[in-house]
Amino acid sequence: MESNPTIDHPETHEHTLTFIRKKNSFSCDACGLVSEFEINMYGCLPCNFFIHRDCIYLPKIIKLTRHSHRLLHTYHVPDCNTKCRICNGSFVWGCGGYICTDKTCDYKLHSYCATRKATWDGRDLEQELEEISNSDQDVTSLKEVDGKTFRHFSHHHDLMKLCVNGEKEGDERVCEACILPIGSGSFLGCKECDFALHATCANLPRELEHTFHRHPLTLEVDIIEEGFFSCSQCERESCGFMYRCCQEECEFKMDAKCASLADPLYNGAHQHPLTLLDSGACC
Ligand SMILES: [Zn+2]
Ligand SMILES: [Zn+2]
Ligand SMILES: [Zn+2]
Ligand SMILES: [Zn+2]
Ligand SMILES: [Zn+2]
Ligand SMILES: [Zn+2]
Ligand SMILES: [Zn+2]
Ligand SMILES: [Zn+2]
Repeated sequence: MESNPTIDHPETHEHTLTFIRKKNSFSCDACGLVSEFEINMYGCLPCNFFIHRDCIYLPKIIKLTRHSHRLLHTYHVPDCNTKCRICNGSFVWGCGGYICTDKTCDYKLHSYCATRKATWDGRDLEQELEEISNSDQDVTSLKEVDGKTFRHFSHHHDLMKLCVNGEKEGDERVCEACILPIGSGSFLGCKECDFALHATCANLPRELEHTFHRHPLTLEVDIIEEGFFSCSQCERESCGFMYRCCQEECEFKMDAKCASLADPLYNGAHQHPLTLLDSGACC
């Protein structure tokens, strides 16, 4: 890419930025990375400010599906000992990143982790008012009828909360949402037919923002048209519940099993909640 000798972008820096015609070994003030094999940096010498060409245009405010609050780009990540919640890596002292707009929340991300194509929907929300969360919009799938009976929007009979304990022969039924055996533990079962759902699967909401995809998702319980679908996250075939991306021209689909992996993840194998990373989970 041809580089302009200077760039004026007052939203990023109040003075004109000048192209550095040398390989550099100093870190970018916006993202903290050193890219010593590339010539792609601009600087303002009086201010000792250096920034990658691409980082000049980093969005100021973003909203990711993996976190409930909006995130703000800052040139000084406070308390940089805490880790990036996507890659679990550290921050470079005195350099930038994304921090949560909620002052009580310590969620932080590297600039390059927050703005990856798979993570960010590409929208800068600086000029957009925060949507007042539609609390009257009900996205719950399961409603309590009375103390003992429940209704799931996908089924026309009442369900009961049942429990299979380990010693007894496990329930033979299969969960309609994830197509896995009910096994042991608590589940919701129909008294009139074979319909059953794991408790976690029954509570999957009708609308979802999930770590695994950059756009909001909608729950579809009736996928007869497709018959089977392939989960975009785990690539397994399923004929159970499906979360479909609401965006046009986005083909993302996710099965109930992947959807029930939430951040933080509570897993019986470890005593602490785990942070869900793209490559697994860590404490
Ligand atoms: Zn940078
Ligand atoms: Zn300057
Ligand atoms: Zn990171
Ligand atoms: Zn937050
Ligand atoms: Zn299930
Ligand atoms: Zn039934
Ligand atoms: Zn999956
Ligand atoms: Zn999508």
